Amino acid sequence: MFEGLSTRLSGILDRLKGRGALSEADVQEAMREVRRALLEADVALEVVRSFTDKVRDRAIGAEVIKSVTPGQMVVKIVHDTLVETLGTDGVALDFQAVPPVPILMVGLQGSGKTTTTAKIAKRLFEKQKKKVLMASLDTRRPAAMEQLAVLGKQVGVDTLPIVAGQSAVQIARRAVEAARLGGYDVVMLDTAGRTHVDEALMAEVAEVERAAKPHEVLLVVDSLTGQDAVNVARSFTGRVNVTGVVLTRVDGDGRGGAALSMRAVTGKPIKLLGTSEKMDGLEDFHPSRIANRILGMGDIVSLVEKAAESIDAEKGMAIAKRMQSGQFNLEDLKDQLDQMLNIGGMQGLMGMLPGVKNMQKQLAGAMDDKAIKRQRAVIQAMTPWERRNPKEIDGKRRRRIAKGAGTGPEEVNKVLKMHRGMADMMKAMGGPGAKRGPMAGLA
Ligand code: GDP
Ligand code: MG
Repeated sequence: MFEGLSTRLSGILDRLKGRGALSEADVQEAMREVRRALLEADVALEVVRSFTDKVRDRAIGAEVIKSVTPGQMVVKIVHDTLVETLGTDGVALDFQAVPPVPILMVGLQGSGKTTTTAKIAKRLFEKQKKKVLMASLDTRRPAAMEQLAVLGKQVGVDTLPIVAGQSAVQIARRAVEAARLGGYDVVMLDTAGRTHVDEALMAEVAEVERAAKPHEVLLVVDSLTGQDAVNVARSFTGRVNVTGVVLTRVDGDGRGGAALSMRAVTGKPIKLLGTSEKMDGLEDFHPSRIANRILGMGDIVSLVEKAAESIDAEKGMAIAKRMQSGQFNLEDLKDQLDQMLNIGGMQGLMGMLPGVKNMQKQLAGAMDDKAIKRQRAVIQAMTPWERRNPKEIDGKRRRRIAKGAGTGPEEVNKVLKMHRGMADMMKAMGGPGAKRGPMAGLA
C-alpha cells in the first residue's frame, strides 16, 4: 500500500551510514521502492517511469542537509517531484466570458456529475454571489432530472423546469436561452453518463458541446477507479475540449494514483476534488496535500523543511533579534547569504519572524546562487568597520570595494540598497502593530 512509502524510504536509506551527497547506488534502491509503491497505487506505468527517472536525477549527488537523514532527504525530493507532477498550483474555474457562462459536466455514470454540479453551483452562489441555473440533460434515467431538482432546492439554486420528450441537445439550448433571458451568470449542464465509454455517449456529449459552446468542460472521474479513471479521461479528452478534471470520492481514496496519473497523461489540470457525498464536500485541488497522502504522511517533509530552516538556528535567532531592533548590519547580511547558499538559510531566518511565510518563496525565487555569490563577494571586499557602518560607505569606498570584488560600483550600490531595505523592513516589523505592514504588501 501507499501508506508508509516515506517510512519505507527512510528505512532503506537510513541504514546507510555516513552523510554528504547521496550516491547512485543508494538512490537506485530507494527508486525501486518508489516504483513499487506507485504501481501498487495504480499509477500509470508511463507516469511511474518518468517520475522515478526525475527523482533519480535530482537525488543522485544531492547534498543531505545537516540534521536530517538521507532517507528523509529523498522523501523530500519525492514529495517535491510529486507536487510538480500533480501540477504545481491549483487552477481555478474560469468565468472570463459573457454571461451566462456555460459549464458542461461530463463523465461516466455514477462518477458524481450530478452531485458535483450541485456542489459547484452552491459554492458559486454562496461564495461568489453568482446567479446559477442548473439543467439536467440526462434523458435516459427519469429520476436523474428529479435528482438535480431536489439538490437544487437543497442548495438554493434554480433548476431548469423539466419538459418531457426533449433530447439532450434541445435541453441544452433551452437552458442556455433561459439563462440568458433570466439574467443568470452561469448555466451548468449536467449530462447523462454511461457505465462505460461508448460511441453513443461520446457523440452525444460532442453534440451538446457544439450546441452549448461551454466555457468550461469539466470531466468528472471517480478517483477510486484508479487507472480506469485515467483511461476514461483519455477517451473524453480525445472527443471534447475538456478544460479541467474533477476527481470525486477522494475521501475514500487512500492511494492518490488517479490524481498522479491524471495530469501527466491527459495534460488537463485537476481543478476540484469531491470529498464527501454532502453538498459542501468540494475542495480546491492542492497538490501538496495529495503528495502527502501519497507519501502516507506529512511529517518527514515538514521535518526536512524545518531542518533546512533551522540550519544554525541559534545564530539565526540572534540575527533575527538584531534585525528587529534595527541593528542588522552587513556582517549579518553576509551570514545570511552564506546560509542561503547552504539551502534555505534565509527562509529559516524569515520563518522565525512573524507574518513572513508567504514572502519566503518570493525571496528564494528572486535570488539565485550566482547573485548571492556576487553579493557575498561585495561584502567580503569591505572592511569589518564598513560592514558595521554601511552608512559611512562613500563613493571612494564604493569604488575600492567594487574593485576588490571584481565588479562595478553599481553592484555595491545594489547590496547596500538591499541591506537598507531589509533593515527597514525588519525594523518596521519589530514595531507595534507592524505585522501587517510591509509584509502584507509583498505577500
Ligand atoms: P452521476 O451519475 O455521475 O451523476 O453521479 P451522482 O452525482 O449521481 O453520484 C453517484 C453517487 O456518488 C452518489 O451516491 C453520490 O452521493 C456519490 N458521490 C458523488 N461524489 C462523491 C464524493 O466526492 N465522495 C463520496 N463519498 N461520494 C460521492
Ligand atoms: Mg447524474
